[in-house]
Amino acid sequence: MSAISLPRLHLAHLPTPVEELPRLSAALGGPRLLVKRDDQTGLAFGGNKTRKLEYLLGAAQAEGARTLITGGAPQSNHCRQTAAAAARHGFACILVLAGEPPQHASANLLLDTLLGAEIVWCAPQERDSVMRQVFEQAEAAGRRPYLIPYGGSNSTGATAYAYAMRELLAQNVHPDWIVVASSSGGTQAGLAAGKHLFGCESKILGISIDKPEVELSAGIVAGLASQVCARLGKAHTFGAGDILVNDGYRGGGYGVMGEAEIEAIRLFARTEGLLLDPVYTGRAAAGLLDLIRQGFFSPEESVLFWHTGGTPVLFAERYAPRLV
Ligand SMILES: *Cc1c(COP(=O)(O)O)cnc(C)c1O
Repeated sequence: MSAISLPRLHLAHLPTPVEELPRLSAALGGPRLLVKRDDQTGLAFGGNKTRKLEYLLGAAQAEGARTLITGGAPQSNHCRQTAAAAARHGFACILVLAGEPPQHASANLLLDTLLGAEIVWCAPQERDSVMRQVFEQAEAAGRRPYLIPYGGSNSTGATAYAYAMRELLAQNVHPDWIVVASSSGGTQAGLAAGKHLFGCESKILGISIDKPEVELSAGIVAGLASQVCARLGKAHTFGAGDILVNDGYRGGGYGVMGEAEIEAIRLFARTEGLLLDPVYTGRAAAGLLDLIRQGFFSPEESVLFWHTGGTPVLFAERYAPRLV
């Protein structure tokens, strides 16, 4: 492997554990199931953004930045982890949240404030222009801003997941399949790059949270995976055929928790004591359950569910009452 090493600030508890899910597997009469616990990355309730932020903060620090700016949905896990990462390393943090401020801040939004982030609200269709404005104002005020994209998904952030794949290999875990929630695409892209760079045999299946298959696989994920390989000094071009995405579980759209998500959250909780979230892992797990029930995986195969976090959202006002 190349000697290229990107600047990185420490945030995550690594390696995250890999666990067996025998009771869930038995309940489904399905293949061997494992879980990679990236809900346990350790920073303010953890999640996949913590890994990405190690490299994004490394880049911010290398540029002499003092203020991190990012954006997302009101219950964004990415924003909560960015606020925590900023606090941990002494940056200021401004979050641009798309939507209406609720009457009572709960879950991630409560944590954003607790973690000291400044919050700017905007209409969803204005989010890019407001992010730019906020950046320019911070620059003019001498706050040395650094812009982190939605979901931390540029080649800097996604690189973390190439290294996460290397971490899994070092744990001597070689599942036939890896199933992961995919939205801004950085996690799946990093895993795909890591599979290529570090010689992993597992097939990686992204369950799309909100985007049509071609947009995510051929567009975002293949493009980012190619950039990650280039960043790490081993150019490789990924095409649509290299990236597996299933977009059949998008239900009512982003953030809409339906019966399938509720069933998956309950089943994981009651068979394994494992908590998922209403937006990402609940949806990806609902896809996994359906694929198992359809016989998509053969009984001899093993499937690793890459848990990407999001669990604070279980306590969001919008979802909690429907989970009990
Ligand atoms: C952001 C997020 C994802 C999606 O990861 P991407 O890299 O944006 O595709 C999945 N699960 C959770 C809990 C997330 O917060």
